[in-house]
Amino acid sequence: MSEEKMCPHCGSRETEVREGHYYCRNCGREFGRDKETNNGEPLKEKLTGLRFGIGNEKDGVLRIRIAKEAQTDEVVYEVYQAKNGFINKKADIMDTAVWNRLVNTLVDECFVCDWDRQYYPVNDGATLYQGVGWRLDLIVEGEDEITYQGIDAYPVYLARVRRLLAPYAAMVRK
Ligand SMILES: [Zn+2]
Repeated sequence: MSEEKMCPHCGSRETEVREGHYYCRNCGREFGRDKETNNGEPLKEKLTGLRFGIGNEKDGVLRIRIAKEAQTDEVVYEVYQAKNGFINKKADIMDTAVWNRLVNTLVDECFVCDWDRQYYPVNDGATLYQGVGWRLDLIVEGEDEITYQGIDAYPVYLARVRRLLAPYAAMVRK
């Protein structure tokens, strides 16, 4: 059994390992190279938080913020849901090991560094769009945040990221 990784660019599983990263035979693009910060440090070690939000006015909005406190190194999370005029919030401390696993999964399994920065649907005149906006900000210590966003169009790995964050979303679900 081989386990081909899904290409974050086109969603194909026609991928192969090449020199420590991946190559997609379908779209011809690479992914999964080790990412560094502008200072040349491993990105994963410098990720100190994230913000994720998704939703629209009609169906409700979910927001999750996770951040490592600079002073204490404690990882805190906040989950917020606004739906049908009700707001539900939850905040607590997250085990550092859980945060580290989350970062590893985002970078090494969801290939977040290979996502486009913006996703918008092709206007074919036939599809009725829901106006669902989403945004993922990666917080990098000492550097600008990395933002990915879209409306009614998603990276192929966004569903995986939502599953990853599902336990937190469940805390505020009415
Ligand atoms: Zn591809």
